[in-house]
Amino acid sequence: MASLTFDGVGKTFGENVVAIANVSFKIDDGEFVVLVGPSGCGKSTLLRIAAGLEELSGGRLLMDEADVTARGPEDRDIAMVFQNYALYPHMSVYENMAFGLRQRKMPKAEIDRLVREAAEMLDLSRYLDRKPGALSGGQRQRVAMGRAIVRHPACFLMDEPLSNLDAKLRVQMRSELKLLNQRLGVTTLYVTHDQVEAMTMGDRVAVLQPIGHAGESNLQQIDTPQVLYDRPATMFVAGFIGSPAMNFLRAELRRDGEALEASVAGTGQRFRVPATPALAAYAGRAVVVGIRPEAFEVTAPEEAVFHEPIPVAEALGADTFVFFDIDSPPVGIADIGEEANLTAKGRSRLVARIPPARTPRANERLPL
Ligand code: ATP
Repeated sequence: MASLTFDGVGKTFGENVVAIANVSFKIDDGEFVVLVGPSGCGKSTLLRIAAGLEELSGGRLLMDEADVTARGPEDRDIAMVFQNYALYPHMSVYENMAFGLRQRKMPKAEIDRLVREAAEMLDLSRYLDRKPGALSGGQRQRVAMGRAIVRHPACFLMDEPLSNLDAKLRVQMRSELKLLNQRLGVTTLYVTHDQVEAMTMGDRVAVLQPIGHAGESNLQQIDTPQVLYDRPATMFVAGFIGSPAMNFLRAELRRDGEALEASVAGTGQRFRVPATPALAAYAGRAVVVGIRPEAFEVTAPEEAVFHEPIPVAEALGADTFVFFDIDSPPVGIADIGEEANLTAKGRSRLVARIPPARTPRANERLPL
């Protein structure tokens, strides 16, 4: 096992495509870190840098204390699992798993032991003679894992390894992979664009954004899933983590005696916000307020802040998402990256998560 450190890493393609800039973070020995972010944010490039498949334009990569920046992929003691599994169709499961070891001229008996051990761990022992074409998607995915495991690498690199599976299998494999990682204790860097996958699997999650301006870094925040959710460092992270996404409202913060309230831009609707010293410092200023969908409550009409018709309600069984619009200038895409809650014509669309018992009829007004 080893720790893996990105130290001021940058990657420019050609003259001027800055894909990665100023990325620094450390994955501890045995830790599972997920890279997540929208398309083009540089996830795959960072993984390929770790694998030694891309040369750096700046910075260093360390494994434990050793600088491996100049080392080729074969000298890095890593194993990679790809999205398409890259299995050899004409080889059996056994041969697929043994292939890399044979290439290293490992003794036959040792190969056999390692392959059978990994097959046992992955519940593949019954399928060792089959060709990949005669396996289910989930089994193929496990063979790809097996091929990485037999090498006992210091570090696993995984590029969207579950994205070719159907939704149900993906959820199942998510927990299997996580359990496997806990059992093996191998340092893992895992790429996905799916924030639910990131949140459920990562010991820590690194949220990336495409480079927009000079001097920026792709890395917005790296922390545990709960901290990302509760204390996002940027509006981008706030908007990216959570489903449905956080609501953003333009408002002005005002003092009300000891208390602090937000007055929504355009509508004047008012609600209390926690009067922490940090927030109080913004009194009298225009701000953007973020409200998680589950922070809304259905209340008595005279206490409601929002009492708008609900054109769309999605009843999911355990809870219901209700959408409504208010006449407040929306927070634009440019402010938060991709997932803005906005509608046309200067209105903002909000979403609240409420108990299923309160699912409204179409266009009913719900006091929130
Ligand atoms: P996706 O989720 O769509 O796979 P990603 O987050 O993995 O995206 P990367 O593939 O790492 O993103 O790409 C980051 C940026 O670098 C993108 O703007 C991409 O167009 C650019 N890029 C990647 N590879 C090359 C290349 N070989 N030549 C030029 N530009 C590249």
